[in-house]
Amino acid sequence: MKIICVGRNYQDHILELKNKTPKEILFFLKPETAIPIKQPFFIPDFSNEIHHEIEIIIKICKTGKHIQKEFASRYYNELSLGIDFTARDVQEKLKSNSEPWEKAKAFDGSAPIGTFIKKEEFENIQNINFQLFVNQKLKQEGNTKNMIFSIDQIISYISKYITLKKGDLIFTGSPSGVGEVQKNDILEGFIENQKILKINIK
Ligand code: MG
Repeated sequence: MKIICVGRNYQDHILELKNKTPKEILFFLKPETAIPIKQPFFIPDFSNEIHHEIEIIIKICKTGKHIQKEFASRYYNELSLGIDFTARDVQEKLKSNSEPWEKAKAFDGSAPIGTFIKKEEFENIQNINFQLFVNQKLKQEGNTKNMIFSIDQIISYISKYITLKKGDLIFTGSPSGVGEVQKNDILEGFIENQKILKINIK
């Protein structure tokens, strides 16, 4: 099982981090060990700036390679929310040295995931509202209609390079409002007012 994460897929988030809008889909991987086995999330000692990035995630339901966009929706059946925890201080250093991001993105516990919902429960996958509250304050708000690259485009593109297999997860990018987490914060993620995810920070 693997976790593939799309970066820079919402314009408002690209602007807040002063990044360039990608012409092609940008993605990176997290290992299976990024999914926490238990709560809470402990801030790792190698970073002084762990950021939350709330993202819609999809679960792949069958093997596919070179998937055409038109058929991409057949390859996932459930979606949820995940947090792409990012050691922003580490990432900035890696970026400035043109080094890969794994140390900032792929560490243990960096990909907590919420409850999965069947895709059929949504009328339009590309019009789903989602939110992240930190200590009951709204911090991030997104709608999948604002993705630069749609879920079907993402599946098609990634499968040109990497075979997708049943159980793989794809993180589809974060909207704006990313920010630092502190000890004792409580993070809660919602899809269309339904609570999907809760994480305690320690
Ligand atoms: Mg992200």
